[in-house]
Amino acid sequence: MRSIAVANQKGGVGKTTTSVNLAIGLARAGRRVCLIDLDPQAHATLHVGVQPGAHAVSSFDLLAGGASLADATVAAADRLWLIPSHIDLSATEVALAGQPGRESILRRRIEADPACQPGGAGYDYLIIDCPPSLGLLSLNAMAAVDRVLLPLQPHFLALHGLSKLLETVELVSERVNPRLRVLGVVLCMFESATRLAGGVGRDVEAFFSSEARHAAWSDARLFRTRIRRNIRLAEAPSFGQSIFDYAPDSHGAEDYRALAEEVDQAAAGAVVRDRWAA
Ligand code: ADP
Ligand code: MG
Repeated sequence: MRSIAVANQKGGVGKTTTSVNLAIGLARAGRRVCLIDLDPQAHATLHVGVQPGAHAVSSFDLLAGGASLADATVAAADRLWLIPSHIDLSATEVALAGQPGRESILRRRIEADPACQPGGAGYDYLIIDCPPSLGLLSLNAMAAVDRVLLPLQPHFLALHGLSKLLETVELVSERVNPRLRVLGVVLCMFESATRLAGGVGRDVEAFFSSEARHAAWSDARLFRTRIRRNIRLAEAPSFGQSIFDYAPDSHGAEDYRALAEEVDQAAAGAVVRDRWAA
């Protein structure tokens, strides 16, 4: 099973849109995918057409209530299973204050789940939609996965945010989860007509090939696929549909189909150095 946390401490950069449409893109390509909504805002839950609270067990119960992954799982689409979020998740930091090992609760739940065993017959992908902060929830996500995918909105401060994010990944990989690596950066809400968009892409590539590389991101790539700004992507969540159901012929559907393929290839092409390719 390949596990990916979609993270960025900034809000509104495309984390949820990417988590959901990548998850469903992979599911439509035949992969079995589990999507974990780890944002109290529950946007990913709503985006796949599940009402927060409709299922009695949520990602909060997983972290703070002793529930198992299987208890919290809802079948959301063909080959897509969801661990829904709930607003209670916003109280996780308080609920777990002082609890030893609280940053690796999610990892323990995943490790205990029969569908998440490496090389097993369960999920092919586990994708986690992180909240817009680097607090305990994102920490639990990064402690639990093998790869982090970073959506970036071309913006003149984007690179500043990226280095902060990479610092966090370095820390988590050194102290909590030695398997953790950055899978890559995907540019979202891309507007090819702007000079800034091209510039940020080049800056990210230069950054990734710089001398100061850390082991946790030495294999990171800038995905070739750019997610163009597309109004259909902004409309789809309010219908509880992925872009593939809402507007299958849109640029949004085309881009997320391409990204799912590129992510799948990145995984298949990975030399079997670690469990990622298993
Ligand atoms: P985050 O999860 O990082 O906060 P979202 O994925 O929720 O970001 O995206 C923020 C807003 O931008 C949402 O309203 C979403 O529908 C919209 N959006 C995301 N990607 C695109 C895109 N490529 N084109 C147009 N709107 C987008
Ligand atoms: Mg979000």
